[in-house]
Amino acid sequence: MSDIIQLLPDHVANQIAAGEVVQRPASVVKELMENAIDAKASIIKLIIKDAGKTLVQVIDNGSGMSVTDARLSFERHATSKIRTAEDLFLLHTKGFRGEALASIAAIAHVELKTKQESDEVGTQIVIEGSDVVSQEVIVTPKGTSIAVKNLFFNIPARRNFLKSNPVETRHIIDEFHRVALAHPNIQFVMYHNGGEVFNLPESNYRQRIVNIFGVKTNEKLVPVNEETEVVKISGFVGKPEYAKKTRGEQYFFVNNRFIKSAYLNHAISSAFDGLLKDGTHASYFLNLIVNPQTIDINIHPTKTEIKFDDEHTLYAILRASVKHSLGQFNIAPVLDFERDSNLDTPYNYKDVSNPNTPKIEVDRAYNPFEEKQILGKQTTAFKRQTPMNWDSLYVGLESKGTKTQQDFSSVQFESEEQTGSIFKDDSQVETKQTTFQLQNKYVVSTIKSGMLVIDQHRAHQRVLYEDFLQHITVKESMSQQLLFPVQLHFSTQEVEIIKQVKQDLEHTGFQFSNMSEDSIEISGVPVSVPESEVSVILEQLINDIQNEVPDSNFSSTDLLAKSMAKSLAIKTGQSLSVMEQEHLVNSLFGCKEPNMSPTNKTTFITLPVDELERKFI
Ligand code: ADP
Ligand code: MG
Repeated sequence: MSDIIQLLPDHVANQIAAGEVVQRPASVVKELMENAIDAKASIIKLIIKDAGKTLVQVIDNGSGMSVTDARLSFERHATSKIRTAEDLFLLHTKGFRGEALASIAAIAHVELKTKQESDEVGTQIVIEGSDVVSQEVIVTPKGTSIAVKNLFFNIPARRNFLKSNPVETRHIIDEFHRVALAHPNIQFVMYHNGGEVFNLPESNYRQRIVNIFGVKTNEKLVPVNEETEVVKISGFVGKPEYAKKTRGEQYFFVNNRFIKSAYLNHAISSAFDGLLKDGTHASYFLNLIVNPQTIDINIHPTKTEIKFDDEHTLYAILRASVKHSLGQFNIAPVLDFERDSNLDTPYNYKDVSNPNTPKIEVDRAYNPFEEKQILGKQTTAFKRQTPMNWDSLYVGLESKGTKTQQDFSSVQFESEEQTGSIFKDDSQVETKQTTFQLQNKYVVSTIKSGMLVIDQHRAHQRVLYEDFLQHITVKESMSQQLLFPVQLHFSTQEVEIIKQVKQDLEHTGFQFSNMSEDSIEISGVPVSVPESEVSVILEQLINDIQNEVPDSNFSSTDLLAKSMAKSLAIKTGQSLSVMEQEHLVNSLFGCKEPNMSPTNKTTFITLPVDELERKFI
C-alpha cells in the first residue's frame, strides 16, 4: 500500500488556524489594534464598513515595518515579539504567536501599507487568500495601515455564519472599548460607514471611561487603588445604586490586557455583597498589574483567558480592596475594613511560654444573665493597674458613682445640667458624676488639664482587643458552658477557616464539641460573649480572615482579637449608663496602648482648659 500521509499546504494550514484566531470581524479588529499598540502608536484609527464584513482597517502612527518585515509579517509564526520560549514568560506585548496576520491573510483580501520613520519610502503589499498579489514601493506616512476586506470570501460557510450587522457591530464596539480602556494614553478614533463613532483623546483613566460611556458616568465611579507585593490594582468600581441589569460594564485588565475571569468577577460581586439589588450587576473597570512570570496567557488563542499562579491570593486582595473603597467612600458604611495588619500586638509572643502571671480577678458579683454584661465584665473580670502617667491625667474617677444610677442619655444630661447640677456645691464633688455621654457616641470626662473626649466604639475595641490578646497568648480564659450546644452551619471552606483558628478561639473561651464538614457545634463561649452573638462573631471572623491580605505580618491571633473586638465593642449610638461610661474610661486607660484602636484610629482627644479659655476671649 502506498503512503497516505501528506503535509497540508500552508494556505490550508493557515485557513485552519484562522478558524481559531478569527471568529468574526471583531477578532480582526482586536488583532490589528493590538499590533498597533505593540508598535507603540500614539494614535490609532479604526475604520469599519458594513459591520466589518466589507472592511476593517486599522491605521497607526507606530514603528512601521521594513520591506523584509512587511513581507515576513504574513508568514505563520512570524513574530518580532519573542525569540525563545523563555520570552513567553516575560511578555509585555499583546501578540506573540505570530499567527494573526497569516490567519487573516488566509481568509480575506489584505492590503498593507507601512513605513518606518528612518525610511524614505514605504511598502505596500496586497495579499488575497495567502497569495501575494502585489508588492510595491509607495509613499506613505510613518506607521502602518492594514485594510482587511471581504472577510471569509473563500469560506462561504463562515461568512454565512456571521450575525446581523447590528450584532457584529456590537462585537466590534466591545472590542474597541476593551482596547481603548486598556490604553488611555493612546488616542483612538473609530469610523463606521464613513461616520465618526468615537474620538477618544489621550487622557487619564477616568476621562477615558467617561469619554466612552458618557459624562453621567463620572459621578458613578469609585476609585480603587491598592498596591501589594503580588499585585497593583487601580481603576474604578461603579456605585451600587447604578448597578445594571446586564453585565455590560465589567472590565478586568491584567497587564493592560482585557481578560475574562469568572473567579475574579466573583471576588468583586462578593465585595458588593448586600449592596446590590437582586438581579443587578456592579460595573467595574479594574487594572491589575502583576509580574508577567506569575501568569500564563498562552492558553487560549484569543487570549482573553488567563491563568494565575496564585489565584486565591489575588481573589482575597481584589475583594478586600474593592470593599475598602466602597467603605471609604461611605457607600458601605457598615464595612469596617482596615488592611493594616502590621500593627504589632502589644504582647511579646516569645514570652508566651513563660508569661508574667496576669492579674485575673474573678468578679464574684458577675451575673451572666444580667443585661449589658459585655461592657460591665471588662473591668471586673480583668482589672489592670492604671499606669502612673495616666493617674495624673484623669481626676475624680476614683469616686465610683455608685449612687448615680440614672441612665444619662445625652439629652437628659444636658437639660439637667442647666437646671441644677452646674451650680452644685464643690463639696459634693465626691459623689458627683464624672462622665457623661455625648450623642451616644462620645464619653466626656474631666481631666486635670481640661476635658477628655473618648470615642466609645473605638475605645471599647481597644479594651476588648487587649483582653482577647491576653487571653489567647496566656492561654487562659473563662468559658461559660452553654446549657444547650449551639449548632451553626457553614460552607466547607468556612469550617476550614474556623479550624485554622480553633486553638486560638479556645483560648478566648470558645469550646467546640463537634466539627463536621459543614457545621460546628459550640458548647462553651467566652464569658464576654452572649450566646446570641456567637454566630455573628464567627461570621465576622471568617469574613475578616477571608479578607485579610496575607503578608509576612499576618497573625491569626491578632486578627482574631481584632475581629472579636470589632464584633463585640459597644457601637456608636448605644447609650451607656454612668457606670458603664466610667468602666470604659477606666479600662481604656488600663490598656497598654490606650491612644489607638486596634485598627490604628484615635480613641480619645483632650481639650486643655487654656484652649477652652482662648475660645472665650
Ligand atoms: P504577533 O503580533 O503575534 O507577533 P502578528 O501576526 O499579529 O503576530 O504580527 C506579525 C508581526 O508583524 C509582528 O510581530 C510585528 O513585528 C509585525 N506587525 C504587525 N502589525 C504591525 C504594525 N501595526 N506595526 C508594526 N509592525 C507590525
Ligand atoms: Mg499580533
